Amino acid sequence: MSVSTPLYWVDGSQSSFVLGQFFCVGRNYAEHAKELGNPIPQAPILFTKPTSAYQAIRRGVENHIQIPARESCHHELELALLIGEPIGPQRNATDKLADDKRLLGAVVGIGLALDLTLRDVQVELKSKGHPWERAKGFAGSCPLTEFLPLRPTDDCNGFRFQMLRNGVLQQTGCAEDMIFSIASLLRELGSVFQLQPGDVVLTGTPAGVGPLLHGDRLELALWPSASESFSWSLRVDNSAY
Ligand code: ZN
Repeated sequence: MSVSTPLYWVDGSQSSFVLGQFFCVGRNYAEHAKELGNPIPQAPILFTKPTSAYQAIRRGVENHIQIPARESCHHELELALLIGEPIGPQRNATDKLADDKRLLGAVVGIGLALDLTLRDVQVELKSKGHPWERAKGFAGSCPLTEFLPLRPTDDCNGFRFQMLRNGVLQQTGCAEDMIFSIASLLRELGSVFQLQPGDVVLTGTPAGVGPLLHGDRLELALWPSASESFSWSLRVDNSAY
């Protein structure tokens, strides 16, 4: 991967943004918290992935994504937000962190990401009270699609998404089912980390997470509205290392 990774729109054109940092949230859908036996959090659980986590997913081709060969690698399908304007108290002291509309206006694109997770490693780290990066931040841990451009008037909460694994529906979700809304996530992330143009926010996974295996075929789909849909095809390969 080059030092500067361009990001793309769903029509295939290159955006003016290069990949910044990945900011992620854990347990943002009640059914998913339940399936892993976790309590519903009182505040968003936040973590990051390095830029080396990126793997590109493009429309119209069969994408090959690499997963570690030796671990229990789970898929977590999530809405991914492309940040187009800074969000943070130092840059927007008066109103940027207060107003939901202004916060949502800083999101210029929406796509899908796989928050790949080495579940066995994560369970062990959690039991020891250690950080999750070894389980969630490894190289290649964030396959990411192109982004659908958003207008400030678009309502992200209506977006639906799903993933088929080998033809079987595995995960489906909608932003309106999130425990913490997109605006409240942006407010929290902005206040803790300060978001910059090119940063990508993963908004948490709905229920249905499970292991990926070499040779799996995945179909990801995103519906901004009932009449529009975008889809991506992937094949899962064990990585050589
Ligand atoms: Zn996740």
